[in-house]
Amino acid sequence: LLLLACSPVAANANSAPSKILCRPELADARRQELAARLREITGWRKLHFDGSGALNFGAVRTAGGSQTARELLEKAGGGNNLLIIEDASDRAEVVFSRVIEGRWTRDAEAKPRVLIVQVDFADFSRVMGDRAALAAFNVGWALLHEISHAVNDSTDTERAGETGECEALVNQMRRECGLAERAEYHYHFMPGVERNEFKTRYVRLAFEQQQPSTKRKRRLWIMWDADAVGGLARQKN
Ligand SMILES: [Zn+2]
Repeated sequence: LLLLACSPVAANANSAPSKILCRPELADARRQELAARLREITGWRKLHFDGSGALNFGAVRTAGGSQTARELLEKAGGGNNLLIIEDASDRAEVVFSRVIEGRWTRDAEAKPRVLIVQVDFADFSRVMGDRAALAAFNVGWALLHEISHAVNDSTDTERAGETGECEALVNQMRRECGLAERAEYHYHFMPGVERNEFKTRYVRLAFEQQQPSTKRKRRLWIMWDADAVGGLARQKN
C-alpha cells in the first residue's frame, strides 16, 4: 500500500481536475516519454501532462490512433477513482508495470479511491527483439493495460496460451493502430534453455502480425533477461 499525505490534485479554475496524475517524483523526461507514447497510440496530438502533473488529453482533433484507447482514457479521466502514476524503475517487485491500491493517510473517508499505477521504465529499456513487436510493447501500452484493470476491473489470464480479458482490449487498440498483437499474456523461457545451466535467464513473449498480402499471421518475439527485469518467481502484472 502507498501512503499519500495530501491530495495531488491542483485546483484548476477552468476545468475539472483530471483523474490521471503523476506523482511529483516522476521525472519530467519520463512524463514526456509516457505522453509521447500515448500520443502515438491515441492520435491525440496535443496530449500532455500539465504543470500540476495531470494528464490533459488536448483532444481537440485526432490524427489516426486507437478509438478504444481514447475511450478508455476518457472513462478513466472522468471516473470516480484517482489514478496516480508512479516511477517504479528498478524495483524487483514490479515487472514492467502493475496497479495497486493506494491509501490516504489523512481524511481517507472524504477522499476518492486511489489506485497507483507503477511503471518500471528501466525494465522497458532491457527489452529487445522484433521491431514490430517492440512498437506494441512500451510504457504507453503498459499504462493502458493497467488503466484497463483499474477502470474495467478486467483480469489477466492464469493459463498459458491465452491473452486474457485485459490484453484482449489492449490488442484491439493495437489492431486499430495497425500494430502487432500480443499472442499470449504469459512469457516463457527461451526454448532449449534449461534455467539451471543458463547464467542469464532469457524469456520471450510472443506477438503476431497479420500479413496484408497473404492474410497469414507472422510470429514476432521480444525477449529480456528475467534476472534483470524480475518476475521469475511470479508472473503477474
Ligand atoms: Zn495485468
